Amino acid sequence: MDNGLKAVLDMRVDKVIKNLEKRNMKGYHVKSRDELFALLGELVPAGATVANGGSMTLEELGVFSWLREREDITFFDRETGDRRKCMVAAFDSDVYFAGTNAVTEDGCLYNVDGNGNRVAAMIYGPKSVVVVVGVNKIVSDLDAAKERVRKIAAPANTVRLSCDTPCAKTGECMDCNSPSRICCNFVVMSNQRVKDRLKVIILDESLGY
Ligand code: SF4
Repeated sequence: MDNGLKAVLDMRVDKVIKNLEKRNMKGYHVKSRDELFALLGELVPAGATVANGGSMTLEELGVFSWLREREDITFFDRETGDRRKCMVAAFDSDVYFAGTNAVTEDGCLYNVDGNGNRVAAMIYGPKSVVVVVGVNKIVSDLDAAKERVRKIAAPANTVRLSCDTPCAKTGECMDCNSPSRICCNFVVMSNQRVKDRLKVIILDESLGY
């Protein structure tokens, strides 16, 4: 990456991290996957119970495979176990993994969910929540976050999941009333009562959508 561009991106990430910290959330900037997994090793101690809310970013990075290979933790794996039981068990887990649809420069997380299990557990339950996000998810403000979901994240997800929704055909939100609608819960996380419960790891890659 060009040095000028890299410097600008670094400054943007620094700004996000400072603003997350003002909101009682912990921000990390990692420059490589090796650095990411070294940090995850610290955040997921031996003996931990671990759950996840599903995430293309975490899938792309191999985080779920890494969790499955860990013999020293209990992973409530919703892909191989009873899906509902894993989602409910997530609320009492030690560490909960999730992606996010957008993170604003002033340190808020914005997510849109269908079931709502992901945002519910991000808000309350797990002792620690680890969000991994690519730099592509950083946006200027909440309006840009909403636009990002309507123009990119939700349509891409409906295509991936073969949902019968208008956005899967047009590539943008038509504010549908479809039975397959995936946009049911709109959540802004703007602070945490428990300091550093929510950890946001920003990786220098474009990941997920
Ligand atoms: S509200 Fe409907 S059309 Fe809009 S993004 Fe969600 S599923 Fe697609």
